Amino acid sequence: DADRIIAPMRKPEDVDAALRPKMLDDFVGQRAARDNLRVFIEAARGRGDVLDHVLFFGPPGLGKTTLAQIVAREMGVGFRATSGPVIAKSGDLAALLTNLEDGDVLFIDEIHRLAPAVEEVLYPAMEDRALDLMIGEGPSARSVRIDLPRFTLVGATTRQGLLTTPLRDRFGIPVRLQFYTVDELERVVTRAAGLLGLVIAPDGAREVARRARGTPRIAGRLLRRVRDFANVARAPLVDAAVADAALNRLEVDALGLDAMDRRYLTMIADIYRGGPVGVETLAAGLSEPRDTVEEVIEPYLIQIGMIARTARGRCLNGAAWKHLGIEPPQGAQD
Ligand code: ADP
Repeated sequence: DADRIIAPMRKPEDVDAALRPKMLDDFVGQRAARDNLRVFIEAARGRGDVLDHVLFFGPPGLGKTTLAQIVAREMGVGFRATSGPVIAKSGDLAALLTNLEDGDVLFIDEIHRLAPAVEEVLYPAMEDRALDLMIGEGPSARSVRIDLPRFTLVGATTRQGLLTTPLRDRFGIPVRLQFYTVDELERVVTRAAGLLGLVIAPDGAREVARRARGTPRIAGRLLRRVRDFANVARAPLVDAAVADAALNRLEVDALGLDAMDRRYLTMIADIYRGGPVGVETLAAGLSEPRDTVEEVIEPYLIQIGMIARTARGRCLNGAAWKHLGIEPPQGAQD
């Protein structure tokens, strides 16, 4: 799955840093989230306080890491980043926390993947800015409390529901990120083209935007590949035709779906007559982990109305049959 050009997860070749907006004003879209953050940041700064802990949730590639960095910059504080799976032991987290400077933002990506023992260290740290350490073993063991610097924890996860309740409850500012509209992505693409020194026509930017699955990271990646095709073809300007030709070569179709999406849809159509079919069955059929199917493939297909998640499983909608160019079988549900 990591080979998919449209996989929204970060890949080594995504030079994301170069395209990241630096301040809230450069950040495109997510209007509600931006407006709220601006208020909370201004209020905290006015009080000389640190910002309350923030949880960003939503599909990969929508700007969670970018916003975490922006929060630190807007607050005028330091930024430290790590991720759930990287923190193996509670001691690793304790070391991170005790090394923070006053007011720092600590960003934990994939925070739902913290080990339970590590997560428990976070509770008093978030609530009381304290670390409870056990000293010694057996009957003589005792716990000592260490005060921590003031800090803001910024967590990122794909779905809020993946967090345990005690962890979720300790975030004062939960922020849901949405897929971007084509208009918003067009602005992301135009801005990125400028940063990459690529001359792009409005219809070229729009074509890339339409096929980027509502996701800025994918827009940036598609744009880089379009640039390669344009360079080799010696096209001086990326217009809709140049973008379309490049994206077709990459097997990204008119809706921004790729071969994996089409396999997913075709499987439900051909083998399960349009569903319902369970996600486990689909994951096995595609040889993909269930998480990938649920977190990466399905959210956008649901967003554009191709499939429905029902209690009995996944079902194809009319739009999917139409997109595949297959007649729904008699009696199949829409
Ligand atoms: P996430 O942490 O949600 O997976 P990132 O913050 O790493 O996503 O963003 C992925 C890429 O998309 C980065 O290159 C970033 O610059 C770009 N990006 C994300 N959101 C925006 C936005 N609102 N405007 C412009 N570029 C964005």
